[in-house]
Amino acid sequence: MGVRSLTGRLFSRLILYLGAGLLLAGILLVRFAGARAPIAIVILAVLLAAVALLGAVPFRRMNRRFDELATSADALARGDQGVRVPVDAHDELALMARALNDVASRYEEKFRELKAERDASEAVLANLPQGLALLTRDLTIKHANPRFWSMVGLERPRGARLPAARQPVLEEMAEDSIRRGRSVTRDVALYVEEKREYEVTVTPIGAGAEGTPEAWLLSVEDLRPEKAMAALRREFVANASHELKTPLTSIRGYAETLLTGGLEDEENRARFVETIRAQAARLEALVEDLLELADLERPDAALDVKDWDLGQLVREMAGTFEELAGRRGLRVELDARPGIRARVDRAKIDLALRNLLDNAIKYTDVGTVTARIERTASAIRISVTDTGRGIDPEHIPRLFERFYRVDRGRSRALGGTGLGLSIVKHAVSLHGGRVGVESRVGEGSSFWFEIPPDGPHLHS
Ligand code: ADP
Repeated sequence: MGVRSLTGRLFSRLILYLGAGLLLAGILLVRFAGARAPIAIVILAVLLAAVALLGAVPFRRMNRRFDELATSADALARGDQGVRVPVDAHDELALMARALNDVASRYEEKFRELKAERDASEAVLANLPQGLALLTRDLTIKHANPRFWSMVGLERPRGARLPAARQPVLEEMAEDSIRRGRSVTRDVALYVEEKREYEVTVTPIGAGAEGTPEAWLLSVEDLRPEKAMAALRREFVANASHELKTPLTSIRGYAETLLTGGLEDEENRARFVETIRAQAARLEALVEDLLELADLERPDAALDVKDWDLGQLVREMAGTFEELAGRRGLRVELDARPGIRARVDRAKIDLALRNLLDNAIKYTDVGTVTARIERTASAIRISVTDTGRGIDPEHIPRLFERFYRVDRGRSRALGGTGLGLSIVKHAVSLHGGRVGVESRVGEGSSFWFEIPPDGPHLHS
């Protein structure tokens, strides 16, 4: 419906009344003024025209201001919070304009606050590990976070209904919760590319006028990380127990042999005692490595980071292995000039380097072990290269796993625990670095780690 101008109507009515008055005055004049009546009528007509002309100006201005007010109120009603009416007078219209401007600013402010709140909630929802979807009674998905869409393998369709996800178990659970009016939880398997286990909960939320829920929250939680962690823990405990049990059994066996006549066996008793000592030393090494690993894996493991000359650090550590290498007929070479500095936890870098040097000497029969430090484009790389037996490529991907050994017997015979490389990996990843190895069977291996020079970044 078109808008009719209020001031226009007022003005035309005024002119109408004035015209009517003039007509009446004209009739009275003709009646009583006789011959001078035409002159008086002309004067009255001129007067009327003048009044109309003069009156039109303020009326037009008022008309414009009314217009502005009306257009702005209309824009505000449509949601345009930026709208403002010019306030250039001190009358009632200006008062109305000011009030309208106030409403618009408050509206704008509230809108900003709400938007900030909504953005924050969306950010929280978007980063939750669970998939969440808000459902209506007819299973329309009113809102869902990106994790939910990826869990059910859908491309965020607008106004989708739960059946679009083609996961009947989810529909079943939602219908169950809607029917019973309470929360439902179950461990279920969903199939999107592959089968995965989830814990799904449907909870009624937001009671309506009659106390009936208006929406249902569907939450889908991936059970894999927890299950995988539990499996890892079980495996670790089993491995560690096995490793501890072997020397303990051996110690007990030899001790019993000594007690049941072995002490009198002059020829062998020293060998029995030596075996007990060697097994006890193995136990000690194992417990030490386990403690070191536990220390590195502590979630609150704090790094004591300082600026160190890593070239110097490599020299010093390699120096401590010269004697051991010499005894095994090996040479230790250095390609480590001082002056390459980085912010590191020295004890942990020492630990990593010590394990690599120890392995290189342990698994090399002839030749040299070279400790090297170099700067790459983005990191500092420390490597230990040997001329040992090398490692078959099939073992490489698992070398840094706890208790993984290529040759169990040889590792044990050399006092290995199977934990050295996982200690290296942990110590390096605490610095935000990475580890690696290149090896050729019969030629030797080169184990290396890289760390960022400007201190540990958050490790993933
Ligand atoms: P271990 O205590 O048995 O040495 P590590 O975790 O240090 O345990 O190493 C795991 C396995 O990797 C070793 O058992 C060995 O088979 C292999 N390995 C490590 N370093 C070398 C190397 N320099 N040359 C050949 N094999 C190596």
